[in-house]
Amino acid sequence: MLSKPENLAIISGKPFFSEYLHVGRPNIGDRQRLMVRINDMLDRRWLTNAGFYVKEFEKQVAKYLNVKHCIAMCNGTVALETAVRALGLKGEVIVPSFTFVATAHCLQWQEISPVFADIDPQSCTIDPAAIAKLITPKTTGIIGVHLWGRPCQIEALERVSAEHGLKLLFDASHAFGCSYKGRMIGGFGTAEVFSFHATKIINTFEGGAIATNDDDLAARLRLMKNFGFHGMDNVVYLGINGKMNEASAAMGLTNLEDIDQFIEANRRNYAEYGRCLEGIQGIALLPYEETEKNNFQYVVIDVDPRSAGLSRDELLAVLHAENVVARRYFYPGCHRMEPYRSFFPDACLWLRETEVKAQRVVCLPTGTAVRRKDVRAICGIIRLALENADALRQRIARLSN
Ligand SMILES: *Cc1c(COP(=O)(O)O)cnc(C)c1O
Repeated sequence: MLSKPENLAIISGKPFFSEYLHVGRPNIGDRQRLMVRINDMLDRRWLTNAGFYVKEFEKQVAKYLNVKHCIAMCNGTVALETAVRALGLKGEVIVPSFTFVATAHCLQWQEISPVFADIDPQSCTIDPAAIAKLITPKTTGIIGVHLWGRPCQIEALERVSAEHGLKLLFDASHAFGCSYKGRMIGGFGTAEVFSFHATKIINTFEGGAIATNDDDLAARLRLMKNFGFHGMDNVVYLGINGKMNEASAAMGLTNLEDIDQFIEANRRNYAEYGRCLEGIQGIALLPYEETEKNNFQYVVIDVDPRSAGLSRDELLAVLHAENVVARRYFYPGCHRMEPYRSFFPDACLWLRETEVKAQRVVCLPTGTAVRRKDVRAICGIIRLALENADALRQRIARLSN
């Protein structure tokens, strides 16, 4: 544990951690079981196209989420694009800007305009009250994002979408294993889309899935993700190649079996962060709803630059110097990235809360690769840095000039 400010790497040049501690290091389930499955897959000589493991993975995910249909996909972005298309969205779709850029790209890629709504500062998810004034005759849908596994205000979104005849889709990439009012995320809206990217609570290397209780939508999605093939030589629909492969499904099944362990490791880290950050001026650890299921995959702190003494970016510089690769999820917001910045040069005027949060939050490392003593050391660095904010601020300014 560091105790003297001159030992901080931003001054000494010597990082506390000899190896990088990244946000989003993958959780990896039991290797033996994975290898048995991979060997079996090779013995079967069946690597993709509705194979044994994909079917089994879809079945297990649907069961876990308590939904009728799970359609496994090659990644979350293609899953979003395919869901958007299968729902018949066009024209304009309302989305938060405070999200990973794929939420907007999945629309723009098919020439649908994402229209950015502000977030509610409490939950950091799309503000249902901000939606009504963005609706035009071209609006066809809303995509809510359960940011950092914290569910959207689902009923309020259901109300606006019903009132205006809009489709409601959720980007649930962060929320596998989370619940809302006792029901698993996955069964809300017309469909919910998950990502199983390496950084998510469970991964399939790359992968994703669409969960829905709508039989017709599920049937369309199954055609669409396989070029529209219905039988061997019969294409009945415009489609894409969105299939998950067997190795990914084998990884997914293995990780799904160990998800409770992953969540428990995250929960312990989160509790440790809570204890160690307690009482540090200007640092607020974002809470989880304790009565719900949470995956604790995103440890997010809000840095109030005035009471902390350092800005979020200054603190980030201190952490990065120590090889703690904390991340600004999500900076600077989609509306400040191309092509959206050019489309909406004034968006910052109506995305006030998004702008504030994008300047203040940072995600800290957790997951099965992060030990409790790592958490303690990270918090010790944060505490020491803020206690010596004045000296460090000058140092950071000098370094960045
Ligand atoms: C990870 C993520 C995606 C995209 O998922 P991929 O599987 O990487 O394509 C989409 N939306 C959000 C909010 C994400 O975090």
